[in-house]
Amino acid sequence: MNLLLRNGILIDGAGRDGRRADVLVIGEGIAEVGVFEPPEGVRVIDCTGMVVSPGFVDAHSHSDLQVLEDRLEKVRQGVTTEVVGNCGFSPYPAPADPKPLREFANGVFCGDESWGWPSARAYLAEAARSPAVNVASLVGHGSLRIAVAGHRLGPLTAREMERMEGLLEESLTGGACGFSTGLMYAPGSSAPREELERLCRIVGRHEKIYATHMRSYTSGLVAAVEEQLELARRTGCRLQISHFQAAAASNWRLQRPALDRIEQAARDGLDVAFDCYPYVAGSTVLTQLLPQAALEGGREALLARLADPHERARIERETEAAFEWRWSDIYISAVGSARNRAAVGRNLAQLAAERGRKPVEVITDLLVEERAQVNIIAFNQSEENLRETLTHPLSMVVSDGFYVRGRPHPRLFGTFPLWLGTFVRERRWLSLPEAIARITWRPAERFGLKQRGRLEPGYLADLTVFDPHAIDSPATYEEPERPPVGIRYVIRNGKLQYSAS
Ligand SMILES: [Zn+2]
Repeated sequence: MNLLLRNGILIDGAGRDGRRADVLVIGEGIAEVGVFEPPEGVRVIDCTGMVVSPGFVDAHSHSDLQVLEDRLEKVRQGVTTEVVGNCGFSPYPAPADPKPLREFANGVFCGDESWGWPSARAYLAEAARSPAVNVASLVGHGSLRIAVAGHRLGPLTAREMERMEGLLEESLTGGACGFSTGLMYAPGSSAPREELERLCRIVGRHEKIYATHMRSYTSGLVAAVEEQLELARRTGCRLQISHFQAAAASNWRLQRPALDRIEQAARDGLDVAFDCYPYVAGSTVLTQLLPQAALEGGREALLARLADPHERARIERETEAAFEWRWSDIYISAVGSARNRAAVGRNLAQLAAERGRKPVEVITDLLVEERAQVNIIAFNQSEENLRETLTHPLSMVVSDGFYVRGRPHPRLFGTFPLWLGTFVRERRWLSLPEAIARITWRPAERFGLKQRGRLEPGYLADLTVFDPHAIDSPATYEEPERPPVGIRYVIRNGKLQYSAS
């Protein structure tokens, strides 16, 4: 049924001020914007006092598998499109035996032993039938590597390299909106520069985006930024730096010099931008704290190393030497087994005291006990730094959300309402139109989502209607699943997708 959204405050997604008007939705698209009498047979939705904006675009999500299900977590936040396939993890191209790909990505996908698609085209065909959101996908470098060389680290053979280039080419022509790397995750982390250059050149030729989880967000931040800027300069690809931040208190001072490099590159004409989530804590897998060489060969190989007292001591030494947080900054957020359920919500310092172990031994103990499947929440950032990135002219706001079997990071449930409520309405970090641009038109344009992200005739009717005085997220680290407030209606491709009763 066609819809008339009546008397709302329209904010167009491009940063312009709001104005009072009606929106007429016919079929999948926005037909007219203005003030008019409802034509025959349309359903009228009263939006008095509400903001009507383009549906929110979550440009950095790890819901690659969950977007295929009828889930509410993102829709309830006003999200109508998710960009998945981030940080090197995509659910394709799966090798004939998808086991190694699942082993590589399940910690981030919250997956099981049942998924895997041979190509971008096959995955996107299924994702196009998502009952919840529109899906765009980046093809992951880690997944490409697994497809040609499994869990092996280091340089690829000429033959493997050619196969990988072929798979990237096929993914981009098959509909992937770009390419992502996860240079802190094995095996992608072991790729030599030449490999990344050859791949980015292909991305550049397709004029698609290259999104990177860089080699370091801690003491190596500035060098990591420089590496990625140089890669983009040499290959001509458009660069998106994922979840930009300086992690761990001792590195907070590195954010400014890193931003200086990015700003200079942008002034020099490089097509570069970045994204951030509006929380001081991040979320990842516990194996991220290990030297990535310990992961060579996959999970079984890691567990075999940890079973050898000599190897285990070496891994612990290297982990401790590279650790830049306070032990109390790292919280366990998910474990697979019942025996460690009590560890969820506790930090490494607390667990060490309770167990009479060193914090680094808690890490290796948990990895052994949980067969390497443990998720963490890490308190990474300062609020000053967060403000600087979220309000930066080159930034956009994303969730970076992922599912875990335990207690997920609240960003999965609250990113967009929190951004518009706590940060924009209450703290006044940005104007509402500019804040909305960072979650609509800017990511849609950046990731090449056609006809989305703007509230204008001719665009697809993805619309979010919310109460600007109420919108917010009450989700906390302790109770992440508390649903957002203030979202009234979500319309996707012209259909009412969600309505708060
Ligand atoms: Zn990442």
